Amino acid sequence: MAFIRTVLGDIDPSEFGVCDSHDHMIRSGGPEVVESKDFLLDDVEASRKELERWVEAGGKSMVCMDPIGCGRNVPKFLELAESMRGKVHLIATTGFQKGDFYDHKVSFVATNTAEEVAEWCALEVTEGMDLNSYNGPIVKRCKAKAGVIKAGTGYCNISDFDYKLLKIAALTQLKTGVPISVHTQMGSMAYDVAIALRDYGADLSHTLICHVHKTPDRFYHKKIMDTGACICYDGPDRPKYVPDSVHIDNLKWLVEQGYQKQILLSMDAGKASYQSGYSEKIGRKNLGIAYLLNRFVPEMQEAGIPQDAIDDMLIHNPARVFSFIEH
Ligand SMILES: [Zn+2]
Repeated sequence: MAFIRTVLGDIDPSEFGVCDSHDHMIRSGGPEVVESKDFLLDDVEASRKELERWVEAGGKSMVCMDPIGCGRNVPKFLELAESMRGKVHLIATTGFQKGDFYDHKVSFVATNTAEEVAEWCALEVTEGMDLNSYNGPIVKRCKAKAGVIKAGTGYCNISDFDYKLLKIAALTQLKTGVPISVHTQMGSMAYDVAIALRDYGADLSHTLICHVHKTPDRFYHKKIMDTGACICYDGPDRPKYVPDSVHIDNLKWLVEQGYQKQILLSMDAGKASYQSGYSEKIGRKNLGIAYLLNRFVPEMQEAGIPQDAIDDMLIHNPARVFSFIEH
């Protein structure tokens, strides 16, 4: 039987519902927070408010993409998930972000083989996540399991370390059937990521390549999907990068070209200032993650993107991509 592995247990894919396929709920530290305090998402109550609003807007599930070494906080994430039990399905992540966030000589990824690291990632999928997120020698494995593995690559190049992370993701998928989701920097190198994963043995129909919308080139998006991989348009409401109208024109064209089964949507609201729950704490207002359903989807409808394509992007494609591969 097909299943999706949420942090509170496995579910039938038909229960997954409207999904934000790449987002951030709890991030308690890590290299991004060192870069900017705006990346700190450490308040369960503020995150819960954000999730409540996502549910009120019609959302039913969310794939939370904070991996090992990037502020993943399993105890807080579980507290959040428990507080929303029965209302929303959350997927937790094992694996890694882009290689630049890890020490290339002395991190445990550097000093062990890809096969050895994949064993440890697989345990987070099959046995349970480490409450310490593999940040030291003491492992406290809990019952909650990761339902996706992440890898990441740099801007306009893929380092040897990034390739190792992609290999770890593919090996973990081969071992466990877990779906893969990849951070690309500004959408660059996404095609090369797909080819590398395929060469490492990954099943691209259970692989999501994220942030491609930041390179708003629909011909490139088509080329990526022609490998069999799915892509995520994860971040409307970021006009400093690309206005929504460009995303919508591209999505409409890609649907007309027959690609609606390979596109997923999300907000990727990985900063406090992008979320309503955190913003209101400091006297600011925005639509937060609910923007996707309350603003962007109506814009897609107004532009003439058919409802069955929108339903594929929000419901049917996530249910299929995030299902485990059955061996
Ligand atoms: Zn993200």
